[in-house]
Amino acid sequence: MHFNELNLHPQLTAATAACGYQTPSPIQQQAIPVALAGRDLLGLAQTGTGKTAAFLLPLLHHLLAGERGNKPRALIIAPTRELAEQIHADIGKLGKNTGLRSVSVYGGVGKLGQIKAFRNGVDIVVACPGRLLDHLQAKAVSMAGITHLVLDEADHMFDMGFLPTIRQILKQLPKERQTLLFSATMPQELRRLAEEILREPTTVQVANSVPTTTVSHVLFPVEQPHKASALKKIMKETEMTAALIFTRTKHKALHLATQLSKAGYSATSLQGNLSQSQRQSAMSGFREGRFKILVATDIAARGIDVSSVSHVINYDVPDSVEAYIHRTGRTGRAAKTGTAFTLAGQEDRPMISRIEKTLGKPMRREVLAIVQVTADSLPASPPAHPRQRPRQPRMAAAKR
Ligand code: ADP
Ligand code: MG
Repeated sequence: MHFNELNLHPQLTAATAACGYQTPSPIQQQAIPVALAGRDLLGLAQTGTGKTAAFLLPLLHHLLAGERGNKPRALIIAPTRELAEQIHADIGKLGKNTGLRSVSVYGGVGKLGQIKAFRNGVDIVVACPGRLLDHLQAKAVSMAGITHLVLDEADHMFDMGFLPTIRQILKQLPKERQTLLFSATMPQELRRLAEEILREPTTVQVANSVPTTTVSHVLFPVEQPHKASALKKIMKETEMTAALIFTRTKHKALHLATQLSKAGYSATSLQGNLSQSQRQSAMSGFREGRFKILVATDIAARGIDVSSVSHVINYDVPDSVEAYIHRTGRTGRAAKTGTAFTLAGQEDRPMISRIEKTLGKPMRREVLAIVQVTADSLPASPPAHPRQRPRQPRMAAAKR
């Protein structure tokens, strides 16, 4: 199938070609005709399947029909600032030369720029729930003209406790509208919300929530005290274009990035303690290749799409199978191949076996020579860099 078979506005078909997209991905093939027909949609698809264009293309198509640059007609709600920025950037690419304007709205930055953008006239608001509600309560923007609503990564919004805020925002939206909801998973409460807000939706589902097939999964049995030296050895021995490393806490992300920089790697961290401009420079530095390594927490890394990520490294095993799927979905994107490394100790065994059950096969085991320990034995050698171990006792109790 080709994009020109989807009956999109020619400008949009041209934009897909300019983005280097040759054929629509499965979710795009299924979702775009439904959304173009004006129907509500529940889209279930794993990460990296091309959901953004699946909702943006029909959305832009619809908006091209009306008066541009006047009042918001489309609202896209996303869980994190990074994802909002990414969608906003994708609107810039797919909506190039359409004259349609979007603004990204999230907390942690001044409100003024956002308010100015509202005043200058925007067609699309891409927002995180909290800051949008602030603006609505301050009457800085009106949602009365919204004809299209998209909820992206709805399961993450649920995880992050945004559903009550979203419900309040929804009260201010016209009932008469098209709603598209995208999620990788469908927890009970989200299902309830979907039933409330979608009208006779068409459900589109591609694959189950299983990882991208282009990713190979490798497990390194390593106990906690040996992880830093194990990681350095892995990195020394592996050819990586760009690596995304996950830690359990934000303090650990910062600490590990600092350690890696000291060891001569170009590394930075993305975690909740950064200011918005620091987050942005970490993200763009990684995306543009100035940093080869980004150390992040799950929340900070949600929805991030850097197609050059060759390796995802789970420095800490995630606390759910879903998180594993999401993390490893950051590599092997758009049918490129990727590798996921997981450093796991004894206590991680139950989670590893759950992950392997979902993967449908065991991860490939690789034992590191310097690390004299396997998941089956207790640590035998002292940590290679005792001085670089976490100094702050706060770390153990730190929240994500
Ligand atoms: P998701 O939201 O499902 O996680 P994204 O929309 O972020 O996935 O898309 C993942 C990557 O695939 C992005 O880099 C995007 O530019 C690329 N992509 C999307 N659609 C296509 C396509 N039809 N052909 C090639 N690449 C695509
Ligand atoms: Mg997405």
